[in-house]
Amino acid sequence: MTEFGGLYLHIPFCRKKCTYCDFYSSFATEELLDQYVDALIKEIKKRGGSFGRPVDSVYFGGGTPSLLGTRITAVMDAVRGSFSLLPDTEITAEANPSSVDLPFLTAAAKAGVNRLSFGVQSSREDELRLLGRTHTATEARETVLAARALGFQNISVDLMLGLPGSTLDTVAESLAFVLSLNPEHLSTYLLKIEPNTALSKMADRLSLPDGDAQAQQYLQVCEILEKNGFSHYEISNFAKEHRQSRHNNKYWLGAEYLGIGPSAHSFVDGKRFYYPRDLKAFCRRPETVPDGFGGDFEETVLLRLRLSSGIDFSATAERFGIKLPPELPKQLNHYAAAGLGVCHGTVFSLTDRGMLVSNQIISDILEVFS
Ligand code: SF4
Repeated sequence: MTEFGGLYLHIPFCRKKCTYCDFYSSFATEELLDQYVDALIKEIKKRGGSFGRPVDSVYFGGGTPSLLGTRITAVMDAVRGSFSLLPDTEITAEANPSSVDLPFLTAAAKAGVNRLSFGVQSSREDELRLLGRTHTATEARETVLAARALGFQNISVDLMLGLPGSTLDTVAESLAFVLSLNPEHLSTYLLKIEPNTALSKMADRLSLPDGDAQAQQYLQVCEILEKNGFSHYEISNFAKEHRQSRHNNKYWLGAEYLGIGPSAHSFVDGKRFYYPRDLKAFCRRPETVPDGFGGDFEETVLLRLRLSSGIDFSATAERFGIKLPPELPKQLNHYAAAGLGVCHGTVFSLTDRGMLVSNQIISDILEVFS
């Protein structure tokens, strides 16, 4: 496990709510952004001293961090002044193609941001409209090109699968578009209709692909990306060599991280805690709420099996003082024989097909340990 920590900064603002989104965000005004950045900087300074470990990843998530504009400079100054950052720290900012402008990109580059994650989602205008995205595919391409021209060499792109009316052909079309942007990293998510989103209110009018069609889309994306030199290192994530997300790997590998901002979660000294989803309360008096302990055996199995590197059950059970159940090898070999997993002794990982049914496999394996 890495001894270095991660720092997550939540930027809870968007210009317009996407129809599928249930992340915590408010409508952005310049005044609110100023107030929030003041509160965020104060909290960064307060928390920095007690984090107690060097940081090798900083992640601006949202919301829409690109709405920070040149304010990112002051935020990163506060981060550097309050945390001990390693020289090669990965500093990521999520960006919405419609809100990225040259002043933001220039300020981000100067502030040390060395990784951008663009929410492109699709190349089809009908899909982008349905999702409520405020950019076109052409704008997405121009924004990525602008970032490249400024020297950003580590770019990630998000792509959504399982969209209403989507087929293997429409997914291949969007994927070809995304690949033409030459990203170093790609995240793909199956559309999930969350309660209380605009999309949930029209759910019965949407022609959503069924489970089998979604699975085929996912497997098609895995195959095309693997042919294009990406490794499928986590259920939803693909990377070129040495370009895995250092920050997100912390979540899956059980490393410790501090999240600051409304709705941001933390895992520090074995304890989980979070800031409530309340922007005003955060600006007035930021306080965290305890959320129990993390990093137990069950959570470790659950998170490690998201990764293609998998888990060594023998070493993990020993770490937690748990006896390996005698029926475990039979269970793991059963998945391997079905093409859902790869098993070398007690080291086990899921294949692309296994990742599609990971919830069931993980719950079956945990059952064997119970
Ligand atoms: S830009 Fe991102 S955070 Fe904002 S509404 Fe859209 S999906 Fe949600």
